[in-house]
Amino acid sequence: MPVVDRQEWDVVVVGAGGAGLRAAIEARERGARTAVICKSLFGKAHTVMAEGGIAAAMANANEHDTWQTHFRDTMRGGKFLNQWRMAELHAREAPQRVWELETWGALFDRTKDGRISQRNFGGHEYPRLAHVGDRTGLELIRTLQQRIVALQQQDFADTGDHEWGLKVFQECTVTRVLKDGGPDGGRVSGVFAYDRETGRFFVLQAPAVVLATGGIGKSFKVTSNSWEYTGDGHALALLAGAPLLNMEFVQFHPTGMVWPPSVKGILVTESVRGDGGVLRNAAGERFMFDYVPDVFKDKYAESEREADGWYDDPDHHRRPPELLPRDEVARAINAEVKAGRGSPHGGVFLDVSTRMPAEVIRRRLPSMYHQFKELADVDITAEPMEVGPTCHYVMGGIAVDSDTAAARGVPGLYAAGEVAGGMHGSNRLGGNSLSDLLVFGRRAGRHAAEYARALAQERPRVNGAQVELASAEALRPFSAAAEGEAGPPENPYTLHQELQQTMNDLVGIIRREGEMEQALHKLAELRLRAGRIGVEGHRQFNPGWHLALDLRNMLLVSECVARAALERTESRGGHTREDYPGMDRSWRNVNLLCALAEHPQGRIRLTRETTAPLRPDLLALFEKEELAKYLTDEELEGGLSA
Ligand code: FAD
Repeated sequence: MPVVDRQEWDVVVVGAGGAGLRAAIEARERGARTAVICKSLFGKAHTVMAEGGIAAAMANANEHDTWQTHFRDTMRGGKFLNQWRMAELHAREAPQRVWELETWGALFDRTKDGRISQRNFGGHEYPRLAHVGDRTGLELIRTLQQRIVALQQQDFADTGDHEWGLKVFQECTVTRVLKDGGPDGGRVSGVFAYDRETGRFFVLQAPAVVLATGGIGKSFKVTSNSWEYTGDGHALALLAGAPLLNMEFVQFHPTGMVWPPSVKGILVTESVRGDGGVLRNAAGERFMFDYVPDVFKDKYAESEREADGWYDDPDHHRRPPELLPRDEVARAINAEVKAGRGSPHGGVFLDVSTRMPAEVIRRRLPSMYHQFKELADVDITAEPMEVGPTCHYVMGGIAVDSDTAAARGVPGLYAAGEVAGGMHGSNRLGGNSLSDLLVFGRRAGRHAAEYARALAQERPRVNGAQVELASAEALRPFSAAAEGEAGPPENPYTLHQELQQTMNDLVGIIRREGEMEQALHKLAELRLRAGRIGVEGHRQFNPGWHLALDLRNMLLVSECVARAALERTESRGGHTREDYPGMDRSWRNVNLLCALAEHPQGRIRLTRETTAPLRPDLLALFEKEELAKYLTDEELEGGLSA
């Protein structure tokens, strides 16, 4: 077995995006010696790509905003499948997390009277997104990094070692969470990882591990997600024995670039619509007025005049339908293109050029201006953009306790950010991810640190046999290439392309039973072929090898998505079934859980569980008429009479 270095920490955070950094800061501030480990360079996590802003009911731009309104919007957006306690904590705590960022040096855009500016976004009743132009994620990460440096300087002053209490291992990938028992039992004892540059293996021993690895978009062909989004944390949790929740819910953002092909899927931020941009079809019609579903009819404008009046006088006008939640807009665009009313490159038109002066567009949407100019040679101040749906976010994720972020079933494992499930129900509202990262990143860091402290005397031990297995698993692609076991070696890039095509075509934005069954067969075939992946060369920075290891995760997570999507026979949020087009109230309180279980059809077994009923005081925040659209009669009677 190759030499495996070991280090000991109190808490290991896997991921250095918003959730991971916020967790690490909290754990360190609570006295835990904390290691952060990330696949990319420190500061390059996917969070830096976030454009629009952080949703928090600070009431700076509209004094009527409250945490209760934010909670209501989040539950509506998630079609009431949200883990409601998470939605409550998120709405209550998000403002504090934004103000805290400001005290750590974040430079938000300001209102005229000097407060943090807040902008409109789909599904939010009031302007709620604190932002920095359209580069909010970059500022968030910069601020959290600055905070980490400040803590390291403090450690240097106290111990003479900057990395005594908080160390970042960048360009390193975790392939296994280790436990002191087998997959069905035991507590977390650390992680197994490899250094991407040298290929060397190492183990970080720790009683508490926070997974903050982000999403799964790289399993789909057209996606806004960065290369890191291979579902690693989801798979690490499954392999460690923790279930995933509601993996069928994948958000297709309505507006990705559609042209040129090399940039297909890159995001066009929702701020474009929040700031006044409108969607038109090839005939020049603002088609979204035809797609307002019944559950939202009383909240959205019926005419262009009413919709346009809302920007200046939101108290006396209803919102433009372009600002419906993302799932609704994505389905509408898909329907227009399918009906032959699309733009030349298979999308629709998104126009700001006729809505705002060029100077305002360049100031409020600088990244979008440059993105289109440089990548598509389109000047968005003079002509419309062409846009279409792109795989953007996964609402499903590791099943966690709402208050502590502890993963279900594995003591010592925590999860926060996009990798955790529950918070967003069946569909996430824009801006609610950055606030989620901060709220639950902090909670995960706190509880991981407390758990580790409580175990100070009897820490779980790293099991040597598990390290050997992890090492052998990671080296396998090299021996397959050399030995040509059971047929010629498979190429990881070919398998990845086939996987992406399968998920895009068969488990994409509109789903059908037969196609999902086909997808599961194809996934089973890919899994067999993945066992024969072979890579050339050696362990020093070898991207083919890295992809071969990532494929295990993408295949596992894709099977979860396909199995759960086949099981849920209704359409809700980010899960649209052509054969079951309506939302079904009997599914409202059903969670689908995926767990690892080898069986002839695959590696994932699904179980159903009934969600906890909404607390009566939270239920009372909604009109009974509205609740009747979502909840079953028994739930309504039980909840309202309690
Ligand atoms: P990330 O920021 O992705 O961090 C994941 C970390 O995990 C990375 O450091 C990665 O290297 C590491 N990692 C992954 N696997 C491993 C492994 N095996 N070993 C070690 N490290 C690993 N949301 C909003 O609320 N507002 C917005 O305006 C907004 N705009 C967006 C714009 C774009 C273009 C996109 C794509 C998304 C946007 N989102 C937005 C969504 C939001 O950015 C993400 O959901 C969020 O940043 C996820 O943060 P995270 O901390 O969970 O993960």
